[in-house]
Amino acid sequence: MTLIQPAPARPQGGTLVEQFEFGLDAPICLTWELTYACNLECAHCLSSSGRRDPRELTTQQCEAVIDELQRMQVFYVNIGGGEPTIRPDFWHLLQYAVDHQVGVKFSTNGSRLTPEKARLLASTDYVDVQISLDGATAEVNDYVRGPGSFDTAIRALQNLQDAGFRDAKISVVCTRQNIGQLDEFKALADAYGATLRLTRLRPSGRGADVWDELHPLPEQQRELYDWLMANGENVLTGDSFFHLAAFGDSLPGLNLCGAGRVVCLIDPVGDVYACPFAIHDEFLAGNLLDEGGFQRVWQDSELFRKLRNPTAGGACSSCSFFDTCRGGCMAAKFFTGIPMDGPDPECVQGYGATALAEARSVPTASKDHSKRNPTRNRPVMLTLRRREDITAPPVSACAVNPLAGFAPTA
Ligand code: SF4
Ligand code: SF4
Repeated sequence: MTLIQPAPARPQGGTLVEQFEFGLDAPICLTWELTYACNLECAHCLSSSGRRDPRELTTQQCEAVIDELQRMQVFYVNIGGGEPTIRPDFWHLLQYAVDHQVGVKFSTNGSRLTPEKARLLASTDYVDVQISLDGATAEVNDYVRGPGSFDTAIRALQNLQDAGFRDAKISVVCTRQNIGQLDEFKALADAYGATLRLTRLRPSGRGADVWDELHPLPEQQRELYDWLMANGENVLTGDSFFHLAAFGDSLPGLNLCGAGRVVCLIDPVGDVYACPFAIHDEFLAGNLLDEGGFQRVWQDSELFRKLRNPTAGGACSSCSFFDTCRGGCMAAKFFTGIPMDGPDPECVQGYGATALAEARSVPTASKDHSKRNPTRNRPVMLTLRRREDITAPPVSACAVNPLAGFAPTA
C-alpha cells in the first residue's frame, strides 16, 4: 500500500454532508462480506457470489478484525456475502462481535433462519436482521432470486416474528419488475412488524449483466421518487437514491457518495474496497492482513485519501441540481463506462441516457465468484449439498460446492 500526502483538512463546522465529504477516522457504514459462498444465485448479485474463496479469513483472523473494529470504535457492522450463515462459525462470530461492543446487522436470504436461530437472535441485543426480498410476490421475486426463494424469505420473517424478534428489515433491490409493488412491500413489512429498506440496483457484479433488463425506466424513477416523498419517512434507503434529488427536493438519507469517506467494504479475504458496489481492482484500497491492519488501509490508503476530496462537477457542473445530486453514484458510472466526472447513468435530467448513447468502454469484472455450472431458472437448492454427495469428480471442489472444505453443520 502506498502512502501519499495528507488529505485535505476537514472543515470546522458546516453541514454533516460537508464534514463527511472529507472522510471520518472510522467508517460509519462498514460492510463485511464474510463469504462469497451462496446457496442461491441471484441474477443481480452485486458481489457475483456463489463459490467460496479458499483464502477466506479464518475464524481467528475474523476475531482479530472484530478486535480492531472495537479499538477503532466502529459501533456496528453490516455483515453480508454471499450467504453469511453458510459459514460454520457465523453464529460464533456474531456473538463475538456483540461481546466486543460491535453491533451486527446481517443480510440473509433466510434459508438458515430456523425457528431455533430466530429465538437465538431474539434473545441477543445489538443484532439486526435484513431479509432480502426482491418481489412482493413469488413470481416477481423468484424471477431474479430463483424459484423457492420467496417462500424461504417469508418463512424466515415468520420465524422471526414468532420468536418475538422486533423490527427485522425487509431489503428490496428496486427493479423495473417490482417498482409497481412498493405499496405491497410496505404492507408485507407492516404485517411482519418489519421495516422496509429500499436499495438501488447498481450495475455491479452480476448486476452488470442484467442491468439493461432490470434497472427502472425513467418514468419508474419518478414513480419511486413520488412514492418516497409520500411514504419515505419510515422507509430506509441509505445513500441509494440521492440522484433522485434532481426531481426537486432531497430525500431523507445520505445525500452523498460515501465511498471511502464514510463507507467501505471488507471482502472475505480481507481486501478493502471503497464501497460494497465497487468490487473491482480500481477501488481496492489494500488488505487488512498487511501491516497496520484495517486502520491503516482506512486512514492512509492512497485511494481513500483521493476519494476524500470534494466531488468535482465535471460534466455536471452546470447542472442546477449538482449540490444535491453531486453527479450520482460512482459505482454506477464506473460499471457502465461513464467517466467519474460524468453524469449518473440514471440521471433524471436525461444526461445519463445521452452519456450511455455515446461510445464508451465498459470495464470487465476483475472478480467473479459465480458458480461454474449455473442453475438459474431451475429449482434453487435450498438445502446445501455436502461434499460427499457430489458424485461427479469436481475440477475444483469449491467450483461445485461453495461449502468445500467446511465440515457440514447441523
Ligand atoms: S459508489 Fe454509489 S453505492 Fe457506493 S457509496 Fe458511492 S453512491 Fe453509494
Ligand atoms: S446532470 Fe449530473 S448533477 Fe445534474 S441531475 Fe444529472 S447526474 Fe445529477
